[in-house]
Amino acid sequence: RSFGDLRLPEPILRALRGKGIEKPTPIQVQGLPVALSGRDMIGIAFTGSGKTLVFVLPLIMAALQEEILMPIVPGEGPFGLIVCPSRELARQTHEVIELFLAPLMEAGYPEIRPLLCIGGVDMRTQMEVVKKGVHIVVATPGRLKDLLSKKKMNLDNCRLVDLGFEDDIREVFDHFKAQRQTLLFSATMPEKIQNFAKSALVKPIIVNV
Ligand code: AMP
Repeated sequence: RSFGDLRLPEPILRALRGKGIEKPTPIQVQGLPVALSGRDMIGIAFTGSGKTLVFVLPLIMAALQEEILMPIVPGEGPFGLIVCPSRELARQTHEVIELFLAPLMEAGYPEIRPLLCIGGVDMRTQMEVVKKGVHIVVATPGRLKDLLSKKKMNLDNCRLVDLGFEDDIREVFDHFKAQRQTLLFSATMPEKIQNFAKSALVKPIIVNV
């Protein structure tokens, strides 16, 4: 198995190679085809397993596809939302996303605008990006709830990635009327999370490596 088998655009493959990422890890081998197919998924994986690419690459692919079909207009979006349990994880995830966007644009793919939506950063700056139309939001729950309660974002057509299982996320779910795809990642699967996943996800595929 290789990243090339997944029909990812050449600029993505090149960016991966540039980071020394040539051979997919077990969660990538099992999880990427599921996430790329659009199915809901529960990924059980530890830090360092390579799980970030399992949701970042499918979100970028979905954003490119949707942007080509129906471009984001000012004030709209996002196509994808990643909820992180900490600011640091959100920052790192945003950086991984950015790694792929410039090479894609240089190769003629549409511009994908990501937004880091975390506390401790001026909210007005974040609003400016939202106003332009944003494709992928990487957020921590607090700031995300602020933006959602101010009705600054529309999640009707959004894919959701959840990396934490705070009670916060339940409130976020209330903003999703009919989410397109949900990916949940956790290091463990206690009963509480299993029950939540059963109620919030549609026929999820469980990837446990
Ligand atoms: P993650 O578990 O997603 O936080 O990834 C942990 C680290 O592994 C990061 O530094 C990634 O850049 C790196 N990594 C992810 N996938 C691969 C891969 N297939 N081969 C080598 N390194 C990888």
